[in-house]
Amino acid sequence: MEDISQKILKAKGVYRSLELPPEVKEASTELSKAIGRKAEILRALGLSEICKRCDTEEGGSCCGRGIENYYDEPLLLLNCILGVSLHVKRRDKDSCLFLGTQGCILMARHTLCVNYLCEKILNRFSPYSLMELKEAEGRELEYTFRLCERLRRYFQ
Ligand code: SF4
Ligand code: SF4
Repeated sequence: MEDISQKILKAKGVYRSLELPPEVKEASTELSKAIGRKAEILRALGLSEICKRCDTEEGGSCCGRGIENYYDEPLLLLNCILGVSLHVKRRDKDSCLFLGTQGCILMARHTLCVNYLCEKILNRFSPYSLMELKEAEGRELEYTFRLCERLRRYFQ
């Protein structure tokens, strides 16, 4: 498997020389909006606060070391397009490379990261109360997938 630092360098290299096609710009704006809507739902449910506490006070964040390896170049490039400054320095030896002091630094995330809810959350919320969140995540993943498919050609 290719090293994540190499993938980040490649994505950054393509980003620097990329003239963004208008349709990618437009789709990226739609994705940002979808991510924003999901963040509002997370806040309204209190999930953002629960996860923040879990990470900073209870030492239980689910963002473990190695998850960064699921990220490929198109998804990393998409993050550059969305304004994320990708770093290659790990904050904690047992945590995902992308876990910063304020949580995940990424905007566009892998399906694994978007869909994951731990037992603690699942025991606390009914499937019905999570329905709106799941719908928002579905839209976010659809935009992410479509954009990554368009960006893939820059790495061929
Ligand atoms: S999903 Fe669960 S394990 Fe992960 S940060 Fe939130 S509360 Fe913690
Ligand atoms: S949410 Fe972000 S920090 Fe957490 S595992 Fe996924 S990429 Fe890493």
